[in-house]
Amino acid sequence: MTNQSLRWTLPEVIALYQQPLMDLLWQAQQVHRQHQTANEVQLSSLLSIKTGGCPEDCSYCPQSSRYDTGIEKERVLELERVIEAARAARAGGATRFCMGAAWRSPTEAQLDEVIAMVQEVKALGLETCVTLGMLKNGQAERLKQAGLDYYNHNLDTSEDYYSEIITTRSYQDRLDTLDRVQAAGLSTCSGGIVGLGESREQRAALIAQLANRSPYPHSVPINQLVRVPGTPLADNAPWMSSSSCAPLPWLVLLCLKLLSGSQPAAPQ
Ligand code: SF4
Repeated sequence: MTNQSLRWTLPEVIALYQQPLMDLLWQAQQVHRQHQTANEVQLSSLLSIKTGGCPEDCSYCPQSSRYDTGIEKERVLELERVIEAARAARAGGATRFCMGAAWRSPTEAQLDEVIAMVQEVKALGLETCVTLGMLKNGQAERLKQAGLDYYNHNLDTSEDYYSEIITTRSYQDRLDTLDRVQAAGLSTCSGGIVGLGESREQRAALIAQLANRSPYPHSVPINQLVRVPGTPLADNAPWMSSSSCAPLPWLVLLCLKLLSGSQPAAPQ
């Protein structure tokens, strides 16, 4: 059985998640060193190319137009400003440059603007990544032709908790876009957020979902909720307490253990 044909059940992932941190650390290190260069870290830089005014209702996000967070809707950044930011990122050691736009789904005209950015950033010798929301048929192919390397599209949380966090799209919508991205030959960047109010089992279910994709996501961002005043999750209990049960190290190590067989897997 190859790594790509492995399938992880939720009880198996939960069993791994319940291990002592040092045990998981040991196992994750062994798997990681089989497939990746030890002690090498890739630096990526993220730029918001269009901020605020998003029609979606992601309850953690201050860029949603539904919440009063003080973030105003901005126009798409001019190409020159994007190039300047990419040059600065490269000078700072980044080798991947990600551009994010607060859209539900880009129009073809919006995609034209992003494609010009991708081409310019690629010409600087950087890996390119964009996160633009849901893609329609043909859009991932246009991005691929422009030289895009990665498309970021996070699953955020488990399927059974998703509707508690977002109601303007479904989990299946997310999976459909990931499928389009993969079919176009782009590498995927997909992860989630901890601290949304999810249970330990729901965190494990997110990891199981990612670990059962074929191919595995090439990058797995694990984010921590930033509780922004004005968003529905502003008053969520802090997810990381002073106890030794903070979930982030376990989740990162789980990703290393379950996803490091992909090339080039990079939990971030
Ligand atoms: S789709 Fe993205 S920008 Fe829009 S509300 Fe959700 S997280 Fe924020």
